[in-house]
Amino acid sequence: MYVKARTELERITPYALGQTIEEIKEQYGITTVRKLSDNENGYGTSPRVREAIMQASAHLAFYPDGMTSGIVEKLSAHYQLDQKHFLVTNGSEEIIRLLTRAYIDKNDEAVMAEVTFPRYKTNVLIEGGRAVTVPMVDGKHDLQKMQEAISEKTKMVFVCNPNNPTGTIVAKQELLSFIDSVPGNVLIIMDEAYFEYADSEEYLDTMPLLDQYKNLVILRTFSKIYGLASLRVGYGIMHEDIAKELHKVRDVFNVNQLAQAAAVAALEDQAFVQDCSVKNSAERCFLSGKFKELEIDSFPSQSNFLYAFTNRPVIQTLTENGVLVRQMQLPGYKEAFRITLGTREDHEFILQIVSQQFHERAV
Ligand SMILES: *Cc1c(COP(=O)(O)O)cnc(C)c1O
Repeated sequence: MYVKARTELERITPYALGQTIEEIKEQYGITTVRKLSDNENGYGTSPRVREAIMQASAHLAFYPDGMTSGIVEKLSAHYQLDQKHFLVTNGSEEIIRLLTRAYIDKNDEAVMAEVTFPRYKTNVLIEGGRAVTVPMVDGKHDLQKMQEAISEKTKMVFVCNPNNPTGTIVAKQELLSFIDSVPGNVLIIMDEAYFEYADSEEYLDTMPLLDQYKNLVILRTFSKIYGLASLRVGYGIMHEDIAKELHKVRDVFNVNQLAQAAAVAALEDQAFVQDCSVKNSAERCFLSGKFKELEIDSFPSQSNFLYAFTNRPVIQTLTENGVLVRQMQLPGYKEAFRITLGTREDHEFILQIVSQQFHERAV
């Protein structure tokens, strides 16, 4: 290639996508694939969404609303918070990119956990910044060490809560002291993509802190519990001065019209969200408990997936039977994987094939 790309890109590896459903079907000669590899909502989408998309599809020739006013109005009412705090984007991944675009200069640092959502690091590197990663303790963020890692060059810290891929949360009081300890000229980015799945007493709702901490940015998404991953809608909640900077670097029509109509309809159906959350908590408890009986451990999860680890062979059995999970590496264990929680039927199928395989090996 004769045209050289920016030097920063030499350090970037493209995001590793898992195998597709079609590839798995072909490879193993099976007809049913259970895709539990990307933390999507196994219960689908609110039925209201499809109707809203049909209606919006009458206006495809026109550009969408560049201010996503419909969603912002609904979010503002939902959270009882002024509209000026919201920025809606093409997935919350876009917000991460806008934050690094707007705030990371060459050689600036961003502090983050070692095992967390990979998009933080990638976007920091693209801007020529440095990712300072802090090892986990039992799958959790080490907030003490993260605080110590903040230097004069630090521009932002990322806290993924619940964390992807480990599923863990940081304890309320610890997080409060951490937020309080971060200097005012460092952005605190709380990625709460799995917010609606957390039901622990120890989970901190950061929204009430916005007034006090003007450097706080909260990220949430329609991709997970709202079941709109294919449409790409996420949002950030932040001080209006930060929102103003992000508006400067975003695409003008960043959220398409069908996605906007879908997100509005999805927000109106909080009963669906509640129902998914309740079912998810029950399945989380069920699957982690049954896994434990099979000597498959997992970190305590507050999200819609488990990070599981074991010394018994599991992943190959799952894949051959059409259960797609995300392979991970955890020192001290032969196998580690992230599995999205599905329905009870999915879990019974999984437990059956895994215990059958263990049994066969034992005899
Ligand atoms: C899934 C996920 C997102 C959401 O991505 P979208 O771009 O909104 O689909 C953000 N952060 C984390 C940690 C996630 O797991």
